[in-house]
Amino acid sequence: MAVLNRLPTLDRLRRMGLSEDDRCILCGDGQEDRDHIFAGCYYSKQIWVSLLHSCKVTRLTMDWDAELRWLCTCLKGKSLRVLLLKLAWASFVYHIWEERNRRIFRGDSRDCNGLLNCIRETIRIRVQGKVTCIDDVNRQLGIAWGIL
Ligand SMILES: [Zn+2]
Repeated sequence: MAVLNRLPTLDRLRRMGLSEDDRCILCGDGQEDRDHIFAGCYYSKQIWVSLLHSCKVTRLTMDWDAELRWLCTCLKGKSLRVLLLKLAWASFVYHIWEERNRRIFRGDSRDCNGLLNCIRETIRIRVQGKVTCIDDVNRQLGIAWGIL
């Protein structure tokens, strides 16, 4: 849904006449559209950069299209780093949308660290026990994710 830009973001709901306010509820600054909430939002950027850092990727965040191009290029192979990046991206998109809905519909919110811990725990559970090759790279990744 996110890749196809079919999520009912506030900018789409406003265009359909179903919402008057399209301000991002995650950061309170900026129009809530797909590109903003997953790539341009200050709140989301902090989380994605931290997940990248845990995957031993040190770079700045990019816009939505550039992130997808980067992911399509990098997510090849069966290394632990690729597995973690795939899980990190999928969990990031899922949990950012969930957090947005939590704030809108339940009036509840988590700060960046709270959401990041939730994402990290989801990934840790998925990867636990799947690390078969313990080389230097995997050891560093395993320590970063708490899976060794
Ligand atoms: Zn925002």
